[in-house]
Amino acid sequence: MQIGVIGAGQMGAGIAQVSAQAGFQVFLSDVDLARAEAGKVGIAKQLARAVDKGKLDEAARDTALANIAPVGEVEAMAPAALVIEAATEREEIKRAIFGRVGKVLGAEAILASNTSSIPITRLAQAAPDPARFIGVHFFNPVPVMGLIEVIRGLATSAETVAAVERYAQALNKRVVHANDAPGFIVNRVLMPMLNEACFALGEGVATIADIDAACQLGLNHPMGPLTLADFIGLDTCLEITRVLFEGTGDPKFRPAPLLVKYVEAGWYGRKAGRGFYDYRGEVPTPTR
Ligand code: NAD
Repeated sequence: MQIGVIGAGQMGAGIAQVSAQAGFQVFLSDVDLARAEAGKVGIAKQLARAVDKGKLDEAARDTALANIAPVGEVEAMAPAALVIEAATEREEIKRAIFGRVGKVLGAEAILASNTSSIPITRLAQAAPDPARFIGVHFFNPVPVMGLIEVIRGLATSAETVAAVERYAQALNKRVVHANDAPGFIVNRVLMPMLNEACFALGEGVATIADIDAACQLGLNHPMGPLTLADFIGLDTCLEITRVLFEGTGDPKFRPAPLLVKYVEAGWYGRKAGRGFYDYRGEVPTPTR
């Protein structure tokens, strides 16, 4: 089966990787061919690391890499049975992508979005057929995290849900079904915690290091909330928090001013080299 992945950033590259490892032929695109190719280079590095650790053999690595074809235009995805959009979390970008790829997809093909927070029913309006449009929400890092939230829009058909369940099974990921409500399940619960950590930092409750240590050790989480926010991307966290705020109208979801400030500074977290921590040295150091 052929799959298209649009957006070769953190998530798109991960989705392309696990799909290729599961034996699917993957077309990978981004804003241009060079970015799509850079995404494949990043995947090659991940797979090389897995080989070094003895988790993957060289033949499986070569097969997975051979399954990934970077493409310059989404129109090249015409033969795909499933196209997963994992581009930047901005509604106008996603709508424009669906308009373009929708023109070339086959009559049976399914279009899915990895959006963290934008309503699936609303996004479906930009797709060629809302019955064949669905949310497939992966978690970061995709090769490690075993969950996919499947979000059905108002018009999504039962066949579309079943097809995505079969795909998730091939990837060996557990599916949970969420209704099309802001933030679905995981982000509805997680983002208020990350946002609250930003409020606590901004109000001088504690330092970055102590907020993270408190949550990591006091709640037995694998990492603190500010480390996790950096890992997800502060721009993505802010976009999701805004969607929760606007989607519910509930002031409890209002974005923390300090989160807004970091995003305005371009300090998007690990991917930008700097967020709540500075990653440009040998070890991450708190920026406040
Ligand atoms: P990212 O910034 O790492 O990657 C986004 C990619 O999209 C970039 O490579 C960018 O060049 C590309 N892009 C932008 N406009 C495009 C266009 N018009 N056509 C094709 N590609 C385009 O972001 P990410 O973390 O990979 O997030 C991507 C999506 O996945 C978002 O919708 C986000 O909400 C969602 N998501 C993110 C996480 C996470 O933890 N980061 C988890 C689940 C879902």
